Amino acid sequence: MAKKTTVKKSKSSGKAGKYVYFFGGGKADGNGAMKPLLGGKGAGLAEMSRIGLPVPPGFTITTDVCTYYYGHKRTYPSSLRAQMQAGLASIERLTGKKFGDVGNPLLVSVRSGARDSMPGMMDTILNLGLNDQTVEALSKKTGNARFAWDCYRRFVQMYGDVVLGVQKRPDEDHEPFEVVIERLKHERYHKDIEDTRLTPEDLQELVRRFKALVKDRSGRDFPASPWDQLMGAVGAVFGSWMNDRAIVYRRKYNIPSEWGTAVNVQAMVYGNTGDTSGSGVAFTRNPANGVKEFYGEFLINAQGEDVVAGVRTPEPVAELKRQMPAAYQKLEGIRQVLEKHFKDVQDFEFTIEEGVVYMLQTRNGKRTAMAALKISMDLYKEKLIDWKTAVMRNPADQLDQLLAPVFDVAEAAKAPTIATGLPAGPGAASGQIYLNADRAVAAANRKEQVLLVRVETSPEDLRGMIAAEGILTARGGVSSHAALVARQMGKVCVCGAGALEVDYQARTVKAGGKTYKEGEWLSIDGTAGKVFAGRVKTAPSEIVAGLIEGNAAAKQTEKFKSFQQLMKWCDTAARMSVRTNADTPEQTRNAIAFGAVGIGLCRTEHMFFEGNRIDAMREMILAETLESRKAALAKLLPYQRDDFAGIFRALKGYPATIRFLDPPLHEFLPHTPDQQADLSKKIGVPVEKIHLRVEQLHEFNPMLGLRGCRLGIDYPEISEMQARAVFEAAAIVQKEGIKVRPEVMIPLVGFKKEFDLQLEIVHRVAKEVQAERKVKLSYLVGTMIEIPRGALTADEIAQTAEFFSFGTNDLTQTGLGMSRDDSGSFLPHYAELEIVKKNPFATIDDSGVGQLVSIAVEKGRATRPGLKLGICGEHGGDPDSIRFFEKVGLDYVSASPFRIPVARLAAAQAALSAKRG
Ligand code: ADP
Ligand code: MG
Ligand code: MG
Repeated sequence: MAKKTTVKKSKSSGKAGKYVYFFGGGKADGNGAMKPLLGGKGAGLAEMSRIGLPVPPGFTITTDVCTYYYGHKRTYPSSLRAQMQAGLASIERLTGKKFGDVGNPLLVSVRSGARDSMPGMMDTILNLGLNDQTVEALSKKTGNARFAWDCYRRFVQMYGDVVLGVQKRPDEDHEPFEVVIERLKHERYHKDIEDTRLTPEDLQELVRRFKALVKDRSGRDFPASPWDQLMGAVGAVFGSWMNDRAIVYRRKYNIPSEWGTAVNVQAMVYGNTGDTSGSGVAFTRNPANGVKEFYGEFLINAQGEDVVAGVRTPEPVAELKRQMPAAYQKLEGIRQVLEKHFKDVQDFEFTIEEGVVYMLQTRNGKRTAMAALKISMDLYKEKLIDWKTAVMRNPADQLDQLLAPVFDVAEAAKAPTIATGLPAGPGAASGQIYLNADRAVAAANRKEQVLLVRVETSPEDLRGMIAAEGILTARGGVSSHAALVARQMGKVCVCGAGALEVDYQARTVKAGGKTYKEGEWLSIDGTAGKVFAGRVKTAPSEIVAGLIEGNAAAKQTEKFKSFQQLMKWCDTAARMSVRTNADTPEQTRNAIAFGAVGIGLCRTEHMFFEGNRIDAMREMILAETLESRKAALAKLLPYQRDDFAGIFRALKGYPATIRFLDPPLHEFLPHTPDQQADLSKKIGVPVEKIHLRVEQLHEFNPMLGLRGCRLGIDYPEISEMQARAVFEAAAIVQKEGIKVRPEVMIPLVGFKKEFDLQLEIVHRVAKEVQAERKVKLSYLVGTMIEIPRGALTADEIAQTAEFFSFGTNDLTQTGLGMSRDDSGSFLPHYAELEIVKKNPFATIDDSGVGQLVSIAVEKGRATRPGLKLGICGEHGGDPDSIRFFEKVGLDYVSASPFRIPVARLAAAQAALSAKRG
C-alpha cells in the first residue's frame, strides 16, 4: 500500500508526544502504511484524504494513547486534550461549523479502529454533539426538523447503549430502546411502521423517553455538554479494548493486546436528510465470483449501519444509476481511483448527502477462492500487479474450494441442516446412506449414489469409501482415518458429526429428532462441515472436469485457464517440488494431472486390502513356518508387482518412493467370530488357530509395537518379496521404454543398523532381479525419519541412507508422546487453553517437532551433502507447515492428490516470501 514511509515498527516512534493525526481537505498527517499507529480505519481514511477522495475531515487518536491509558490507570497523556482541541478546530475550519455551536453546530462520529476490524469493539457513535439546543440549531439551519430529530434520536440511543451501558438485561427479550420505539408506534399508529415515517414530534417524544430511560437505568442524566460526550465516547472505545468479547476474539486470532485500538473522530455527513441522501457499502469488484463490476448495496435516506442492520431491505448499487445518476458517476470514478491506488479490490463505505458523495472507509476486500483467482488474473492483465503479487493474492488454504464439486446454492439454502461436523474433505456430495462397506459397495454396483456413514472408519471400510460419493462419520477429527483417506481420494467427507446417532444394528442414523434408514438420502458439505437431510443437487468443478476427466468444454472455461496460469507461475516461483502420496495408478494419474512430479509416499499395505489379496495376506500372517509364509508371500508377489508396474507406467518417468510394510499385523486380521469362520473356510486353517493367532498378535500399544522396519527385521522374507515386486515391475516397465525411478523407503528407523539390515536385502534382491531379467536398474534406498532417535542420529543413518523422508505424522506422535487417534479427547481442550496454538497433527509444531526435522536436516546433510530430503506426512499439504519446510530447506513436499494444487501454491508463496524477507 502507498509508498514506503519512514515510520518505524515500534509504536513509541512517530513524533514524540504526537497523539492526534489529522486528515481532511486533501491532506493527512498520516498515511495508509501506518496501520499499527492509526489502526486500519484511520490509516485508510488518511490515505484516501491524501489521494484527494472526498473524506469528511477528522482526526485519529493513536494506539499509543490506548497503551498509555492501560499503563496509567485509565488516564490520558496530559497533552491529549489540547491536541484534540486543535484537531476539532481544524475540522471546524474546514467545515465552517462549530462544535457545540447554537448557530451551525458541528457533529462528529466516534469510531473505534484496531489494526484489523475486530468484533467485540465498541460500536460507532454518530451525531455526537447534539443536545436540546444544538438540535434546534440543526433543525433551523437545514430547515429539516425531521432530520434533526432523527439524528438526535439515533445519538441518544447509540450513546445510551454503548457508552452508558443501557442494554438488554438477562431477563429481557428486547433491547430497551427498541421497546420504547415499539410502544410509541403502537400508541400513535396502532401498528409497526417504518422508522422513516415517524414525524418530528414522534422523534422528539422518543428523545424525551430515551433520556428518561437512561436516567432510570444508569442513574445519570444524559450528558448535554458536547465535550463531555466526546470524552465519554473516547473512553468507551479504549475501555472496549479490554472487554470480554474483545479479549476472547484476540485470543482466538492471536492478536497481542499490546497493539491497542485507535479512535477516529470525524465530521458527520448525513445520509438521512431525505430522498436525495443515503448510505451504502460496496466492493470495487464482485467478492463472490470476482467479476469486474460495481458490487454493493445502499439505502436511500439512511444513516450508518442501517444498510447492514437488515431493518429495511437495501437496493443493489446499480440501482443508484437510475435514482441518482450524478452520485453514481462520482462513485464509479472513485471505484477506479481506489483500485488504481491500492492495486487490490477495496471494500468501502460511503454516504451521499444531498447528492454529494463522501467516503467513510476502505479496506482490502475479503473474497472467495474463486473470486481471488479471477481478481488476481484480471489485475495482472490490467497491469496493476505483477505475476508474483498475483500468486500471493490467492490464499493457499482456500484453493481446494476450486476443486470441489459444488452444491447448487439455492438448493442448499432450502435444505434443512441436521448436524455439523469437521469439514474433512471439501466439496459437496449427496447419496443414499449405507452403514457398512459391503452394503455400500453392493449399492454402488446397483448404480446407486452412495454415502457411507460410519461411527468412524478403519482400513476395513476402504472398499466402501471408494464406492461412496462421500463419507460421513460421527466420530474422529480432520486427521482421522476417514479424513485422511477422503483427502487422498478427493472424496467429500464430514467427520466427527457428533449429533448423529449411528445404529449399526438397526441400520439407522438418528439426527435432529428424525430417523434415516439405509437407502434414504442425505447430503454433506465437506467444505462447511454440514449435513443436510435429503438430496441436494451437485455439479463437478470445471478444474477437475478439465484436468482429470479431460473434459474439453471445461478446459475452455475461464476458471480452468486461470487456474492453469496460476499453477504455471507457481512452478516458476517455487524452490521445493511437490510430490504425491498415492497407492494406485489412478491416484498417481490424478496427482500428475494436478502437477505432482513424483510419488513421495506409496503405502504398500493399502494394496493388501483389495479383493482376495487380503486372504493371502492373512494366510501369510497366520503361517507358522517359514515355508508356509513364503508360500503365502508368493501369492502376494504378482499382485504387488502388477500394482507397482501400473504405478510406474502412470508416473511416466517420475520417481516413486515406495514404503515397505508398516502397520502392525493385527490390522489385517479378522476380529469377529463370523469373519474368522469365513477365513477358516477359505484358507483351511482351523478357526481356533486363527483365533489364537489374533490373540497372540494383540499388542497393548500397537503404534509402538511390532511395525515398521521391525516387521522386515523379524520376517526378512516380507521385505524380500516387496523388493522383488518393486524391481521386477521396474524391469518390466523399463523394457516397455518408460523410465523408472524407484526409491525404496524403510519405515520407522531409529538405529542405523535397522536400516542396514534392510538395505542389504534390497541390494541383494535388486542384484538378483537385474541378473535374471538382464536389465540395469537405477534406484535409491532411503529411510523415513519418523521417530526422534532417527532424527537425532541422522548423521549416522545418512552414511548409508540415500534419502530421508520425514514422516511427520508419526514424528509428531512420537515427538509429542501423543497418539493421534486418541488426541481427540483432549486436544480440543488444549486448544482452548492455548497449550497448543494449532492442531499439531494438521500444522507442524515448528518449535518442537520442527526442531527434530531441523536437526535431522543439518546432521544428515553434514554426512551426505547431496542428501535428498522430503516430507510425506499429512503436513505436506498444509500451507503453514509448507512455509516451515521451505525455511529448513527440504527438496520436496508430498501431499495427497487433490491437495497437490494447494501444496504447489503454498510452496510458491513460501519461496516468494522467503525471498522478500
Ligand atoms: P465499523 O467498524 O463497524 O465498520 P464504522 O466506524 O465504519 O464502524 O461506522 C459504521 C458506519 O457509520 C459507517 O459505515 C458509516 O455509514 C457511518 N459513519 C461513521 N462515521 C460517519 C460520519 N462521520 N458521517 C456519516 N456516517 C458515518
Ligand atoms: Mg459495526
Ligand atoms: Mg465500517
